[in-house]
Amino acid sequence: MILPIYVYGHPILRKVSKDITMDYPNLDKLILDMFVSMDESDGVGLAAPQIGKNIRLFVVEGTPFADLDPSIVGFRKAFINAHIIERSNTEIIRSEGCLSVPGIHEEVSRPDKITMSYLDANGESHKEEFSGIRAWIIQHEYDHLEGILFVDHVSPLRKRILKGKLARISTGKINVHYRIVVPRK
Ligand code: ZN
Repeated sequence: MILPIYVYGHPILRKVSKDITMDYPNLDKLILDMFVSMDESDGVGLAAPQIGKNIRLFVVEGTPFADLDPSIVGFRKAFINAHIIERSNTEIIRSEGCLSVPGIHEEVSRPDKITMSYLDANGESHKEEFSGIRAWIIQHEYDHLEGILFVDHVSPLRKRILKGKLARISTGKINVHYRIVVPRK
């Protein structure tokens, strides 16, 4: 089932999400639906708040970045109860976008390496280090669990320039090829 994407301005995107247990209702189906919805909207990641659930769950698909890092092909995973334990001091700047903030791309600086604890889709617990594109995709999705959006990382000046565009997104005055949920007016 393809799920609609909640867009900028919706309060769900601003809440800190909670851990779940592996007996969360219909978890397998939810994860599958999130993969399908991510693929349908050409995303490289999708976090539960973006489909209206404040739970610590996100999915990623790294294959579209194969030209930057051939080893990322097949990096398609669900992360449950993710918690970043460590971040490197070295940061990398990359251009980012988000299904919840359509039509905007901005440069964001993020740590190049992170260590994160999480459960996989089978409920197995991991503590793993991620670097490069993997760490970058993960940190964007992880931010969603913390109620943070990538536009929060841009300078106040850039944010001012984006203000009109963001306002248009939050009132649904945008053209996207996937279904969206706009904040209640
Ligand atoms: Zn996003």
